[in-house]
Formats: sequence, structure tokens, C-alpha cells
Amino acid sequence: MPIYKRCPRCHKRILEGTTCPCLVQYRKAQKKERNKDYDRYRRNKKNAEFYHSRAWQMTSDTVRAKYMYIDVYAFCKTGHVIPSDMVHHIVPISQDWNKRLDVSDLIPLSNKSHAEIHARMKKEDENLVKRELRVYLKEFEKKWIANGVGDM
Ligand SMILES: [Zn+2]
Ligand SMILES: [Zn+2]
Repeated sequence: MPIYKRCPRCHKRILEGTTCPCLVQYRKAQKKERNKDYDRYRRNKKNAEFYHSRAWQMTSDTVRAKYMYIDVYAFCKTGHVIPSDMVHHIVPISQDWNKRLDVSDLIPLSNKSHAEIHARMKKEDENLVKRELRVYLKEFEKKWIANGVGDM
């Protein structure tokens, strides 16, 4: 006579010595979640290391200097001259690691504008926000950098 027991999870009757399919599924899903957490942790660690790297310090300093330490977003949007606090990746490094030091994709911002842009990217069409930032960079360069300090 086969001996049955109840699955502790779904309470279906299962053969003694076997595992209920619902538990197999459950364990698989749990393992997947753990791997996801691990990947997220590793990605965060990699990003944090990058933001502390010398290469990033130098690149972001160069970009801020190129735009005269001005918040390009606030300036192009409102005409206000606000000092830049940091440099933002138009394409986040989590989306394209290869662009992390690509100066054509970097825009100097104040902390306030930076928060605003990230909030807008969540609320609005992310690609439109990215495009807007690229337009501002071009605009600023054309009006204020085009003739270059070297030519003057
Ligand atoms: Zn079950
Ligand atoms: Zn950012």
C-alpha cells in the first residue's frame, strides 16, 4: 500500500518520499530571487567603485570645466545661472556601461536639477527626457563654447 502525506504548502495529497510540484516551483522561484538580489548588489558595488575612480573624477571635472561649472539644464530651461554640483549620465551607466566615460553623454547639473531629471525620467517618457538633455548640451555648446577658448 502506497503511503501518502500532505504537502505542507498546498495541502494536496502526495506520495511519501516525493516532493510536491508546487514546492519544486516555489524553491526555483526563491533561488531566482536570491540570484537577482546578488546581481543587484554586484551592480551597485561596481557602480559605486566607478564613481570613486580616478578616471571618473577626472572626466567629470573636465566636463564641469568645459561648461563653465554651470548647471546646463537649469540654464537652458530657465536662463538662470546656477553652479553645477555634479555630472549626470544621460544614459545611466546601468543601461550602458560602455558610455560611462563618454563625454558626449555627460551633462553638468546642480543637485536640484539632477533630482528633478531623475524624477522626470520615472514619470515621463525616458527617451524624451534624454533627448531634451542632448538638445540643451548642443544649444549651450553652440552659444557659449562654439568659438572655443583656444580661438579667442
Ligand atoms: Zn504542494
Ligand atoms: Zn543621474
